Amino acid sequence: MGVGHSSLPSSVDSLCINVFKPHPKTSALYNPTPQKHLFPTKKHSLFAGLKIGSFNHGRVPGEMEIQKGIAAAQKPIVDFHGIDEGLIQKIVYDALVWSSLHGLVVGDRNVQRSGKLPGLGMVHAPIALLPTPFPESHWKQACELAPIFNELVDRVSLDGKFLQDSLARTKTADAFTSRLLDIHSKMLEMSKKEEIRLGLHRSDYMLDEKTKLLLQIELNTISSSFAGLGCLVTDLHRTLLDDYGEELGLDSKMIPGNTARLQFAEALAKAWAEYNNPRAVVMVVVQTEERNMYDQHWLCTVLRERYNVRSIRKTLAEIDSEGQLLPDGTLAVGGQAVAVIYFRAGYTPADYPSESEWSARLLMEQSSAIKCPSISYHLAGTKKIQQELAKPNVLERFLDNKDDIAKLRKCFAGLWSLVDLDIIKEAIEKPELFVMKPQREGGGNNIYGGDVKETLLRLQKEGSGEDGAYILMQRIFPAASLTYLIRDGICHKDHAISELGVYGAYLRNKENVIMNDQCGYLMRTKVSSSNEGGVAAGFAVLDSIYLT
Ligand code: ADP
Ligand code: MG
Repeated sequence: MGVGHSSLPSSVDSLCINVFKPHPKTSALYNPTPQKHLFPTKKHSLFAGLKIGSFNHGRVPGEMEIQKGIAAAQKPIVDFHGIDEGLIQKIVYDALVWSSLHGLVVGDRNVQRSGKLPGLGMVHAPIALLPTPFPESHWKQACELAPIFNELVDRVSLDGKFLQDSLARTKTADAFTSRLLDIHSKMLEMSKKEEIRLGLHRSDYMLDEKTKLLLQIELNTISSSFAGLGCLVTDLHRTLLDDYGEELGLDSKMIPGNTARLQFAEALAKAWAEYNNPRAVVMVVVQTEERNMYDQHWLCTVLRERYNVRSIRKTLAEIDSEGQLLPDGTLAVGGQAVAVIYFRAGYTPADYPSESEWSARLLMEQSSAIKCPSISYHLAGTKKIQQELAKPNVLERFLDNKDDIAKLRKCFAGLWSLVDLDIIKEAIEKPELFVMKPQREGGGNNIYGGDVKETLLRLQKEGSGEDGAYILMQRIFPAASLTYLIRDGICHKDHAISELGVYGAYLRNKENVIMNDQCGYLMRTKVSSSNEGGVAAGFAVLDSIYLT
């Protein structure tokens, strides 16, 4: 899921900022002691909220290769204990200069208007100093899955009954999902057809240490964020390795290229062209405050500079007051025809503080504009649908190719609904092996550890049907390794775990599939916390990968 301003990392406290002294040039940039108390809560973690140059889809690696890859990944590529502190300080300094000069920035929480106005109160994005090792075989596997997931979302979106039936129990327990389903029902009643369909997705994975399996965390179909900034981290890491690779024993060529930004912009531009109204714009639906605005501006800048497509930014409230449906189905906002609606808001209940925002969502859905995503694509990306698709014989309803089905199934972790009494019993006995998830996006909503047991026991006792709001998922445990993480100008060394997101773009007009591509990646790395098993309050950063 996308990350809104609330999911961006909170600022560190003043104690940390005071450490930052301008002289000597770099000494304050590196703090070798892990400072867990300075880390933001999970709610504000990039990791919690968070979503190659055209990759050449290679053959599927064999099991042996995967094992070899994992073994290599677990051997540190650099002995972080052995790196000279002075060298680290130099690299940190260069990383901060590069980020500032190249727009690898977010709004600074300490500056009041930084989420409203661009160019005001910018701070470098939280980043890993160096790329994180990742086995090439698993990387290829994740890339290969992107177009298959794109197609799956499209097929599922066309089956209105499957979406409604699968989410029926959720509907009674979860008011937000219920509102989305109401809009979806209205479209079914109207027999509304979306002939041009655009998906900008990000499928997130963790590499489970014990089983050596690449397992999907979730598939984001709305507001998949960081396509803009993620590419810059790749460029930054390549630049740092060009400069310091020899001293570190690392080769910048082992970092795969990342053109997520260009490819997402290309998909938006191609969708705009399919709509075929040269005067129409791309409308980005935004939150009222957005500290991750530069990630979005990057896409719009490419749209303008490469494709000469203009974009406007509107909140749901503005769309309600300025929007209008013309007799031919065109959506006009502030008098401007809209070709493509690109949602970077609207995925969380907080985005709908009043009925106005819901009317805006309905208005957009009724229009002929291309929605990224449509209500059906949005629902196809819910966690409940992820769990339904993992049931036996469900993928077969949507896909024909047996190899594709096998590839998808291989990356599915254990997923269960709360009607499965055996699993509930097991989760109460061993809650540390499960994650409990409501139908929410944007991070900070999941339940872990002792809270899983407590919540399950409460739901059992109450018997109110609230259990329909949740799914249970197998907890994935990636290997932790020493990493340098930089935020607010300070570098910390700590044990960290990573989550790889692979972007995918899908565009079709009726029977014509115009784009179905894997589009670059996003690595996110967060400190692993021993008491909460790695998913506790997390200090998360944007990262890239170093193929092993
Ligand atoms: P959201 O839509 O809020 O991003 P996710 O399903 O991605 O929801 O969960 C948020 C975060 O929780 C993930 O980025 C990951 O760090 C952690 N997480 C989610 N599912 C699992 C799991 N099965 N095992 C371990 N960690 C998980
Ligand atoms: Mg997520």
